Amino acid sequence: MVATGGGSVSVVFGLRKHAAGRLPTGPWPTSVRAVDTSRGLVLVVEDEPTISDLVRRYLTAAGFGVHLETTVADGLAAVRRLRPAVVLLDVGLPDGEGTEVCRSMRAAGDWTPVLFVTARDDEVERVLGLELGADDYVTKPFSPRELVARVRTVVRRSTAPTGPKVLRDGSVDLDPASRTLTVEGRACHLTTTEFNLLEVLMTSPGKVFDRAELLARAWGHADYGTSRTVDVHVAQLRAKLGEHCPVETVRGIGYRARRRP
Ligand code: CA
Repeated sequence: MVATGGGSVSVVFGLRKHAAGRLPTGPWPTSVRAVDTSRGLVLVVEDEPTISDLVRRYLTAAGFGVHLETTVADGLAAVRRLRPAVVLLDVGLPDGEGTEVCRSMRAAGDWTPVLFVTARDDEVERVLGLELGADDYVTKPFSPRELVARVRTVVRRSTAPTGPKVLRDGSVDLDPASRTLTVEGRACHLTTTEFNLLEVLMTSPGKVFDRAELLARAWGHADYGTSRTVDVHVAQLRAKLGEHCPVETVRGIGYRARRRP
């Protein structure tokens, strides 16, 4: 339970894998650094004012912007409108389950990190299930400091230079994490250089790269080849991927991966 009184807060760790203990009591962090929201916006969907107020204070003090909603419907609308860096979802909400917000996001291809706040241990397995694709969870009662640490971790993970995100163009799926490419669901084997080249292009659909830039990005150093090297590898990609190849020639400049509407 989050207990308040006498200007102090006493919060107990609620995670089984962490030793139970009490946080030091003392004044709540206030928004001294008034509007330092440089770490990104956290959308908090939580209907218990005591909890959401506490979470807001701690996240604000840690440099996050915080937007509060209290229902599934408003939470989903805010996800689409505000594009938060992290979504913190209570499971039990007045108009449904927080899991519905996460499920809708994932179905729409939105892999913004999601942390669940659950009231019961038996919810943990469900929210962390593959179907939902949540990133982490805390159980009530929780330590706000622990929560802030977890929010920081998922933000750091999601903004790492190489994320687990699969790059997709039509029926072409390129997975940088596993270094695999599938076309219409079938594995397509590329050389390291071909893979690097396609990854560079597909990471920024619509962006035009000149050959020198592609050499530097895909080969690691421009000295490894000439502009002709790039042309040869693009031709190989087109031969392997056929009509599915997303690489377009930009006459007089270089190449780009097509941008789909
Ligand atoms: Ca609730």
